[in-house]
Amino acid sequence: MTNKNGIYLSVDGDDAVRVIIENSMRIQTDRIKISEELIGELEYDMSNYEIVLEHIIDETEPLDDIGAYSEEQFTAVSDAALELADGVRENDLTSGVLLRATVNRLLDFEDDGTAMCLMMTMSNIVKALREPLDTRYILYKYLKSRSEFDTHDMWLETNVLPEGFFFRRDYPCEIINYDLFTNEPKLSQVFFFDNYTDYFVFLFLKFAEQQRRVLECPCCGKLFVPKSNRAEMYCDRILIDGKTCKQIAPKLARKLKQRNDPLLEEYEKAKNRNYKRVERYENADGSSGVMRLTFNEYKAWLDKASEMKRLYLQGKLSKDGFKNIINELG
Ligand SMILES: [Zn+2]
Repeated sequence: MTNKNGIYLSVDGDDAVRVIIENSMRIQTDRIKISEELIGELEYDMSNYEIVLEHIIDETEPLDDIGAYSEEQFTAVSDAALELADGVRENDLTSGVLLRATVNRLLDFEDDGTAMCLMMTMSNIVKALREPLDTRYILYKYLKSRSEFDTHDMWLETNVLPEGFFFRRDYPCEIINYDLFTNEPKLSQVFFFDNYTDYFVFLFLKFAEQQRRVLECPCCGKLFVPKSNRAEMYCDRILIDGKTCKQIAPKLARKLKQRNDPLLEEYEKAKNRNYKRVERYENADGSSGVMRLTFNEYKAWLDKASEMKRLYLQGKLSKDGFKNIINELG
C-alpha cells in the first residue's frame, strides 16, 4: 500500500476497513458499514456547496472575447476549489479528503504557460467538483427506486442494468501482505480511491451485492436499510429527545389518521411533484425550458419539510406555517 492521498478500502460483505491518507500520512483507520456509509453520505446537505460551486464557475469565465486568462484568476479558482473541499471535510471527512485528492491531482500538471493549459485545468477542476452533485442524485435515485420493487432481481433488471454504463469504471486494487481487518499476515486485496464518484459507486455495487432492501421512512422521509427482513416500517434515526422514528412514528401516525387533514395530503403531493421536477431537471442535462430544481435543493427542502410536518403534528407549528413550507418550491 503506497501512501497516495485518498482512501484504501478492504471489503468483507457489509463490513469494510478503511485507511484515509492525506499528505502521505495515515490520518484515520476505521471500520465502516458499507450500507451506513452510503446512506449517510446522501444525508449531507450540499445545497451550500452547490452555491459556492456556481461562484467558482463564474470565476472561470475568460477575461475577454479571445479567451485570455490570468495567472491570478487561475490561482483564485484553484484556491477556491481547495477551500470548498476543506469546507466539506469539516462535516464529511470522506468526501472532503476525496475532493481534495482529486483537485490536487489535477493541479499537479506541467504548466506550459499557455492560456489553453490554464483553461483546461480549470475546466477539469469544475468538472470534478460538479461530480458529487450528479453522483448523489444518481445513487439516491437507484436506492429510492429499490423500495418500489419486491425483489432484488426485478429492481436490477428494470432500473439498474439498463444504465449499467454508469458503473463501468476502473476500481484500482492491489494485493498487500497483511489483512486490514486482523493485521495478520495474509495476501489480501485493497482498493484505492482518490475520486468521489468512484468511491461511492463502488460502495453502491458492494451494497447491491448484498441484496438488501431499501425503504423510505414515512416519518422522517429519509432512506434506510432495514436490519432484518421483518416488516420494519420506520428507521432508527434519532428524531427528537433521544427517541427514534421507530419509537415516535406510531403515535404520530395515529394523530395523522385522526386528523384526516388535507394539508398532509398536500404535503405528500408536493413531495412527489418536486421529486418529479428533480428527475426532469437532472435528466435534461442543462437543456433550456426545464424548471430548475436540483437534487440537493430538493433534499434540503425535503429534510426541512418533514421536520416541519412533525412539528405541525405536535401542534408546534401553525397551519399557515406548514403550508408555506409545503409550497416553498412552487
Ligand atoms: Zn425516520
